[in-house]
Amino acid sequence: DKTGTLTVGKPKVTEVVAVEGSEENLLKIAATVEARSAHPLAQAVVTEAKRRGLVWNEAREVETITGQGLRTRLDGKNIAVGNAKLFAGESLPETLLQHDTQLTSAGRTTMFIQADGHFLGVLAFADTPRDGVRAVLDHLHKIGIRQTIMLTGDNEHVGRAIGDAVGIDEVQASLTPEDKVRAIEVLAAHHGRVAMVGDGVNDAPAMARATVGIAMGGAGTDVALETADVALMADDLSKLPFAVALSRASKRIIRQNLWLSLGVVVLLIPITLAGLAGIGMAVAIHEGSTLIVVVNALRLLAYRREDM
Ligand code: ADP
Ligand code: MG
Repeated sequence: DKTGTLTVGKPKVTEVVAVEGSEENLLKIAATVEARSAHPLAQAVVTEAKRRGLVWNEAREVETITGQGLRTRLDGKNIAVGNAKLFAGESLPETLLQHDTQLTSAGRTTMFIQADGHFLGVLAFADTPRDGVRAVLDHLHKIGIRQTIMLTGDNEHVGRAIGDAVGIDEVQASLTPEDKVRAIEVLAAHHGRVAMVGDGVNDAPAMARATVGIAMGGAGTDVALETADVALMADDLSKLPFAVALSRASKRIIRQNLWLSLGVVVLLIPITLAGLAGIGMAVAIHEGSTLIVVVNALRLLAYRREDM
């Protein structure tokens, strides 16, 4: 996932372009609706509106269209705020499209604002990649993760810009939450095992569908923590290679312990039956072997990143 996972997930409003009415009016309407949403873009709108000293009344009820935007009724008007998908089938004014093309080619995420079928303008946002993501992806490759793929609901331009900045192998953009699930299914069919890392905003179903779902613990939503198999606490992607390596070490130790305990039993039974050892001795050896197994497992407590 891109927003909130590869990126910090705290986008900022970079441009406010009004094609009808004032910039303030545009931002105010957007804030009225977005104040009701928990999406990172929504928070950016509210922050910018506050920064400009605007005041507004929150919309009472908003309809969330996941991966697209929001709709509500405000002062008797139908308000829609969201990306191009939300307005599929409607024709966008030429000037608005020009602004949009310009902004998205500059790597911005854009959001259109419409009132009663009239487009009022577009807001642009920029989010920054997390520190050290490139190093994390390199490290993952080194420990044998074959391919890294970004699944984003954002537009292709932004996906590519962030993808190139962090060195991701492949970018799949403009995906709805359902598209993300389908993408995981296709990848699983091709590659067998797929891990999905997300913050739970529009990607929880995809995380559930992946072989291993990994949630960003701190920035992640409750849904993410509930669906995920693994949660990266402290919101630190650099724990990802560590989690993979620790899992492998755990599996290795489980295997060793299994062979050890089976081996002891397989040896002890015939030896005892043949009368080569007394029952007391057999019990002592068996108990001793369980201690070895426990101590072997406890080694994981001392597992550090340097062991990777
Ligand atoms: P990502 O996959 O990068 O994490 P999301 O799936 O969360 O992104 O969102 C995809 C797109 O859906 C956003 O880039 C935005 O255009 C639109 N969107 C989602 N929520 C909202 C909202 N509350 N208001 C406006 N647009 C939204
Ligand atoms: Mg996200």
